[in-house]
Amino acid sequence: MNLNPDYRLAREKMVRGQLIPRGIKDQLVINAMGKIPRDRFVEEALTGEAYNDHPLPIGHKQTISQPYMVALMTEALMLTGGEKVLEIGTGSGYQTAILSQLAQKVYTIERIRVLMVRARTILAELECNNVLFKAYDGTLGWQEFAPYDAIMVTAGAPKIPEPLLDQLAEGGRLVIPIGDRTSQDLKRITRKNGKYRQENLGGCRFVNLIGLHGWKE
Ligand code: SAM
Repeated sequence: MNLNPDYRLAREKMVRGQLIPRGIKDQLVINAMGKIPRDRFVEEALTGEAYNDHPLPIGHKQTISQPYMVALMTEALMLTGGEKVLEIGTGSGYQTAILSQLAQKVYTIERIRVLMVRARTILAELECNNVLFKAYDGTLGWQEFAPYDAIMVTAGAPKIPEPLLDQLAEGGRLVIPIGDRTSQDLKRITRKNGKYRQENLGGCRFVNLIGLHGWKE
């Protein structure tokens, strides 16, 4: 992996200043956030802001999520390296790259094809070779490779899409922002003995999940 040495310090500062003080503890998550070059996933004019404590625009009215939110959602999936993970909302591909460090295989779906293609190019350059991409409505999941040990949705939904519950493996975790169009609560759903247990992980603000089991455009 060809890392830009200029940003190594910025990444280190991000981990020490934004993630650890807010309670991110999982060493695998901390290592991945310290390794993946976030500056590669933002527009060239914004690379100086890549490690700041907020989301940034990536075009097409979409955003790359705040670093802390990426870390929090990843930690919530409790990955150990051997999992099959489904991600809905590839966006810039930054979160996908983080997941690729913690999972055996990542399946990621983005509804805006040009974003998917851009993300796929960057991940290939970074040699994240365990990721499969698809331009599609992710509220339908990806039945072909189900069930998944973990599912992450990186856009806000009005309710949990039924296909994602069906495609979650026994013991699997689904992390998804649920709420209205402007603010949501981050939920973790765990499938245990055929039942779904729900936990609230706190407030968040995401762009809308648009699709058959999400919001209308
Ligand atoms: N995690 C991403 C990153 O690190 O750049 C940010 C994702 S962005 C907040 C949410 C993404 O979800 C957008 O790119 C949007 O196009 C996508 N999206 C919205 N509805 C979708 C759907 N039904 N299926 C797939 N992607 C969807």
